Amino acid sequence: MSVKVGIPRALLYYHYYPQWYTFFDQLQVTVVVSPPTNKHILEQGIAYCLDEACLPVKVAFGHLAQLADQVDFIFLPRLVSVFPREYICPKFLGLPEMVRHSGLPLPPLLVPAINTYRRQSDLMAAFQQLGNTLGRPDGQVRKAARLAQQVQQEYEKLLLAGWLPEQASRLLLGRQAQEQQVRLATELSPSSPPEAPEQGKGRIAIIGHPYLVYDSYLNMNLLQKLTRRQWPVAVVEQVSSTEIQKQTARLPKKIFWTLGRLLIGAGYHFLSAPHVAGLIHLSSFACGPDALIGELIASQARNCPGKPFMNIVIDEHSGEAGLLTRLEAFLDMVTIAGGRAGASA
Ligand code: SF4
Repeated sequence: MSVKVGIPRALLYYHYYPQWYTFFDQLQVTVVVSPPTNKHILEQGIAYCLDEACLPVKVAFGHLAQLADQVDFIFLPRLVSVFPREYICPKFLGLPEMVRHSGLPLPPLLVPAINTYRRQSDLMAAFQQLGNTLGRPDGQVRKAARLAQQVQQEYEKLLLAGWLPEQASRLLLGRQAQEQQVRLATELSPSSPPEAPEQGKGRIAIIGHPYLVYDSYLNMNLLQKLTRRQWPVAVVEQVSSTEIQKQTARLPKKIFWTLGRLLIGAGYHFLSAPHVAGLIHLSSFACGPDALIGELIASQARNCPGKPFMNIVIDEHSGEAGLLTRLEAFLDMVTIAGGRAGASA
């Protein structure tokens, strides 16, 4: 029987799942993903996590609890830096220690250190460490790591083209899970993403971390609420790295948090994009980086009066009624500003 590794459907799962899945799959390891967030998962996360933590971290604890008795190991990388000369939120760095001291009974954790602060190629060291822990030969590990990185590039292309993370993962890996082989996006040749922009129709941009934007339970189905009201959405992952770079170059100082840089770059881009009619910044209570990032985008939005901006902060007590009231008022403002027709730059 093959070794089973659990991956929590939380935090950077939405950024990196195809890469992680491919790596383990190539090493003949069975991957088990926790189910989508639900009330029970959130309650378990709250029970085991510190009160002071942000909501996404609390929820991650709930996902770990789900995997506890299903797998031989849990994959919980120590994420230090995922882009040269930048760091990500310190909560990711300390997560393995938070988990180890939480009292949550878990199988052994796989904790490779992912630190590409100096150069992107250092990612290979993390894969090597992981493969060695699993007792796989170096050659097999290197081959699996190369393929995993290739799949990640294909995944990012699909996101850029408008596919949402779970859809893009299914496109890349759905058949792979059955056939035990990888099919790349270039082979799949998707004709168009499911929500291709309609000519002349405004979109609502959602600026937020993927673990909030794509977790429908946490955000109370925000994306579905918009699309059911005939408002197509635009998300951060649809903005190219070149455009993010161009937009953030306008700031007087470099943003050294990767996640914050992506949000600011995408926010500034959407504020000047003709197809975007309004922006929603989705953030989590107790998120230090987002408090600053949100304010930087909001202050820029104040110079764009024709493009309504709303900040939604969620925590474990947020209620759907409050969200609906604010959303309806916001969409009214967008409509008054002429957003239905698009072109409100
Ligand atoms: S960036 Fe904010 S929401 Fe994300 S892990 Fe850090 S504190 Fe939590």
